[in-house]
Amino acid sequence: MNGTDAMGVSLDTLMGTAYGDAAGSVMPPIYQSSLFTFGSYQEFEDRMAGRTDTALYTRVQNPTVAAFEAMMAKAERAEAAVGFASGMAAISSTLLAFLKPGDRVACVEHVYPDAYRFFERMLRPFGIDVSYHPVEAFEDEADLLRDVTLAYLESPSSVVFRPLNLAKVTAHARRHGALTVIDNSWATPVFQRPLESGVDIVIHSASKYISGHSDTVAGVVVSSQAHIAKIRDLTLPLLGAKLAPFEAWLLIRGLRTLGARMRQHEASAQLFIDRLATRPEVLKINAPGANTVPGLTGRSGLLSMELAHGVDIRRLADGLKLFSLGVSWGGFESLILPAEVGLRQAGEQNSMQRFGVPANLVRLSIGLEEAEELWADFAAALTESAA
Ligand SMILES: *Cc1c(COP(=O)(O)O)cnc(C)c1O
Repeated sequence: MNGTDAMGVSLDTLMGTAYGDAAGSVMPPIYQSSLFTFGSYQEFEDRMAGRTDTALYTRVQNPTVAAFEAMMAKAERAEAAVGFASGMAAISSTLLAFLKPGDRVACVEHVYPDAYRFFERMLRPFGIDVSYHPVEAFEDEADLLRDVTLAYLESPSSVVFRPLNLAKVTAHARRHGALTVIDNSWATPVFQRPLESGVDIVIHSASKYISGHSDTVAGVVVSSQAHIAKIRDLTLPLLGAKLAPFEAWLLIRGLRTLGARMRQHEASAQLFIDRLATRPEVLKINAPGANTVPGLTGRSGLLSMELAHGVDIRRLADGLKLFSLGVSWGGFESLILPAEVGLRQAGEQNSMQRFGVPANLVRLSIGLEEAEELWADFAAALTESAA
């Protein structure tokens, strides 16, 4: 029963559930307060002793943030979630909570470039070894994760969008006692819930589809009560990269329409894929979708393609009227990112340079504009660029 939980409640229904406070508000208030006070010495003492867990200080706890975290946990069918100031804060705070010097990380190739820089420039100098492997190695090499503390996964991976059979990977990981962490920003819980395939921890850059409006930078980690408790105990308070109440409120707004937006992104991406496949200018399309791997039930609007030798990518990008040039993705607006430009971002240490991305690759984020208008724009610019 894809898309429904044990009680037969769909994700859309879960996300549409009203907040339901005493005033009948459908949205939670924004608790724009740094601290929360106590009515008596006894209440304060109980809270500080851990006998109660009401809000105390917004660096660690805030009711608006908690409302977002509860929705994310439901969406991923998890016990708990914790919000962060960015996707990178979610990634770094998770890895630093579970790793120590001497540990080994096995990471999938073509990992998000700033995650790669975090591994190379921050984890490695602290004595944590990181190795990189193609998706096939994670699936087929039964002993790849021997002596590995943590497997860092993306499915699909960034830019080239290679999907992973998560059930295969987690079976190997369990045998070797390796913790599995996945970045699920691309699929969202609408199209993939990795915890159901045995993954231990799910991370999102909520800046992308979960926000959906290109107005927020945020992150979230979803997992078991025990794993989230460890992050709440250690890296959330001590690194302090907390999610702000206003951002949490925007993310709740985003979650309300996540299902509808993802289905629209999917339909428009499908229209592009079907038509791109008939174009001589397009050599290869990287766009996993429903059932490419078990557990993946749909495709997002983020895909890439390799263009034929004669296509002038500069002319293509400049010829588009409805696609803007830019980084990021997952918003309402359509974007194009030529790999050659993207590869130069932040210079030397770039996972895409290391693992290889063809110079003739462009990434598209298909937004929520009318699909036929988007296609007409893209097709015209493509024709021009190859003339
Ligand atoms: C954007 C992105 C991130 C980082 O998220 P921020 O919110 O920008 O910190 C992590 N993973 C993937 C796959 C991303 O695309």
